[in-house]
Amino acid sequence: MATNLERARAEALDRADPLAGMRERFFLPEGALYLNGNSLGLLSRGAEESLARSLAEWRELGVRGWLEAEEPWFYLAERTGAMAAPLVGAEPDEVVLTGTTTVNIHALVSTFFQPSGRRGKILADELDFPSDIYALRDQLRLAGRDPDADLVLTPSRDGRTLDEDDIIERMTDEVALCFLPSALYRSGQLLDMERLTREAHRRGIPIGFDCAHSVGAVPHRFDDWGVDFAVWCSYKYLNGGPGASAFLYVNRRHFQRAPRITGWFGCTKERQFDMSLEFEPHPAAGQWQISSPGILGSASLEGALALTLEAGIDRIRAKSSALTSYLVELADARLTHAPYAFRVASPRAPERRTGHIALERDRDAQRISAALRGRGVVSDFRPPDVIRFAPVALYNTFTEVWQTVQHLVEIIDGREFERYGAERAVVP
Ligand SMILES: *Cc1c(COP(=O)(O)O)cnc(C)c1O
Repeated sequence: MATNLERARAEALDRADPLAGMRERFFLPEGALYLNGNSLGLLSRGAEESLARSLAEWRELGVRGWLEAEEPWFYLAERTGAMAAPLVGAEPDEVVLTGTTTVNIHALVSTFFQPSGRRGKILADELDFPSDIYALRDQLRLAGRDPDADLVLTPSRDGRTLDEDDIIERMTDEVALCFLPSALYRSGQLLDMERLTREAHRRGIPIGFDCAHSVGAVPHRFDDWGVDFAVWCSYKYLNGGPGASAFLYVNRRHFQRAPRITGWFGCTKERQFDMSLEFEPHPAAGQWQISSPGILGSASLEGALALTLEAGIDRIRAKSSALTSYLVELADARLTHAPYAFRVASPRAPERRTGHIALERDRDAQRISAALRGRGVVSDFRPPDVIRFAPVALYNTFTEVWQTVQHLVEIIDGREFERYGAERAVVP
């Protein structure tokens, strides 16, 4: 009988996996065991095809592609947004593919942060992704506030996770906007967006979320929850490709609110080419677009999203939870005692985390991460002491999780990490 720690169990889980067939529709890097889809998702055949089609249309149609491409470029941002809408529980015109995440934070926070009287602060948290914090500080400065005084960063009790109670306690009558991550990029903790939205609204505070680390791994229900706005990138769990265009969501009750930062692609579609000097916003999330959509950085999404939709976000979530739970179970059994000395830094309850697991180690985490790369295991290191592993439902297997833990055991048994220096790559 196979014990829970044996490879045979992983193989049995793979045989029973209803999404097993999706793996062969992705290009898996040769000789690598890729567990980094939370940082950059892999290319699928579908994404390659829709991107190649756009290149061919540019070659063959030139400017006529805006209206005559198979999927006309002029409507690509709206159409791809509509395609992504079911993944976040939104209506088709509440989501648009545009800009990039940090740019979209500027576009939406400038609209939704409307300080008045006593209410002049933005509430965020100290474990936030740095780019988000830079943008929030800029928006405070642009509104004539003092970022040091007016950006409220909810502290973490353990340095890894946030307690929603601590966030809610800071939703005072001085807060004009809450902007929070759906999931923390280091520990992978998933925040209770429904509860945070309810509590913010109870206090008259609009709330937005950066869902870069959860869309494509976890179902969202923005409309049901009443979220005001959200942003997320397309190159992590959505497999859109490096730097591909990102998404934004605006709840339709805000369609009457004009964007603060405008550009001609936010105009009413029918009249954009009238070239009027008067900005007439398109009555949908599309009005927060600024520039022409980068067709070559957007075209991959059609094929990539089709795969996610075909697999189904609920099945993706179920498999993702099973994969991360399996990793936690193996880590507990094989990696937490001396000399391995790892700690599981992600929440233990699967419903409280997104699609990756963070393992922490007081010493040598960076060199161990380098040794993993040396063996072809692509995970990543986040300073000071975390290695992140994202077994992705669409293309990873339980056997790969088992192999990864086996690699870690061997790297430490053989002190293999000592062959690696402590210097960090520019992109770790
Ligand atoms: C990945 C990520 C980003 C990336 O921002 P870009 O503007 O696309 O470079 C921003 N915020 C969070 C929380 C992320 O996880």
